[in-house]
Amino acid sequence: MGLFDNAKLRRIVHAGWHGLCPECGKASMFNGWLKLVARCPACGLDYKFAHADDGPAFFALCLTAFPLIFVVVWVQVAFDPPWWVHALVSAPILAVGCLGSLRPFKGWLVASQYLNNAA
Ligand SMILES: [Zn+2]
Repeated sequence: MGLFDNAKLRRIVHAGWHGLCPECGKASMFNGWLKLVARCPACGLDYKFAHADDGPAFFALCLTAFPLIFVVVWVQVAFDPPWWVHALVSAPILAVGCLGSLRPFKGWLVASQYLNNAA
């Protein structure tokens, strides 16, 4: 039933969202915040297949930041709040939104690289 019924895609989304090994789904693919483990401790999968550049992570940052900045600008125009509202509310939302999206996005990329190469 369409793209989202695809078992491979479901595996990519699941492994990426939880940061789990795309092969066994039992152990984390991360060793630290964005650094990948060399080898899966559960099934021994070698993560050499994954490209270790953070360009895609930067891309995710822009994708997340854009709508958030849009919201910040909208708040400014609609409510004209004092500057400290942005310092206390907008800045943390931007930081959390960007940092929070990096990990699942990188996980998705790694999982899709693995499952597409394996196919
Ligand atoms: Zn594994």
